[in-house]
Amino acid sequence: MQPIFDGHHDALTRADHANLVTGRDGGHLDLPRAAAGGLVASMWAIFCSGPGGVDLDFEAAPGGGYDIPLDPEVPHDFAAAEATAAAGRLLALERAGHLRVARSVADLDAAADGSGPHAAVMHLEGAEPLDISLEALDAWHAMGLRSVGPVWSRPNRFGNGVPFRFPHSPDTGEGLTDAGRALVRKLNAYNMVVDLSHLNTRGFWDVAGITDAPLIATHCGAHAVAPASRNLTDDQLDEIGRTNGLVGIPYIVDFLRPDGKLDADTPLTQVVAHVRHVADRIGAGHVALGSDFDGGVIPQELGDVAGLPKLLDALRAGGFTEAEVAGIAWNNWRRVLAATWA
Ligand code: ZN
Repeated sequence: MQPIFDGHHDALTRADHANLVTGRDGGHLDLPRAAAGGLVASMWAIFCSGPGGVDLDFEAAPGGGYDIPLDPEVPHDFAAAEATAAAGRLLALERAGHLRVARSVADLDAAADGSGPHAAVMHLEGAEPLDISLEALDAWHAMGLRSVGPVWSRPNRFGNGVPFRFPHSPDTGEGLTDAGRALVRKLNAYNMVVDLSHLNTRGFWDVAGITDAPLIATHCGAHAVAPASRNLTDDQLDEIGRTNGLVGIPYIVDFLRPDGKLDADTPLTQVVAHVRHVADRIGAGHVALGSDFDGGVIPQELGDVAGLPKLLDALRAGGFTEAEVAGIAWNNWRRVLAATWA
């Protein structure tokens, strides 16, 4: 079975996370279903919903499309407590032998050849849990954190996230703050991934101007295929290709569809259309998967993580060679993570 790496999912912070080992009743991802689908390694997002929770209504705008007001900033102390608990949850799964928190590519390789358990890359989606002086980053690195997105789609002390809008450009205002630039420099110095997802245009170019690592967007589609503010424009894709970087394509229908509709009756060929655009624009070595499982509505045809072989078949049917499919499913992620973590 082709091993698969997924650049982003939200299973760790769902309310029924206690059932990740035995199987959740619903949702998109748990460990038994991941194994059934060939998903042997993935980025486990630690996301802070904040005191008020997060309620995104993608059907809000009349006449199709959406324009969702930005959530307020989450206070650091609240986010730090929420995130530390989620990190502990992941480490408890490791302690019990259900997965391995990936600290190097050797952990990914072991998962791929079957000699090790599922490799979980610990990822912070939004840097709110970090203190402004970044002293906590050492503690987080020691816990196993290997990837940080400076912002989610809301403001924080490190920068401004891109609002969820459709149709809309990702160019929505100010990018990183001085603290955000310091964060990117420190992540670089610690050989950690800086995730471009949820940044606006200025934030993207702020990161690109600072980092010397391959540029990585763990879960973003192509703006040329579906004009969502969360998707990457062609000039952004070009820059990612130039740095030997990577884009993980999400399966969230309102980012995938040319009409932006929240409609689960969306064929897998629409995921393939985004993969195809990125591959044609910057090469098949620079596109991979970044599901956003448990983060929104995905195509019914896929169902959940156990359906991933259907997506690989859709890529083959879309004209990708077996070598390209292996790259999209696994090798491309392995390459950029090896280059970043080295
Ligand atoms: Zn996200």
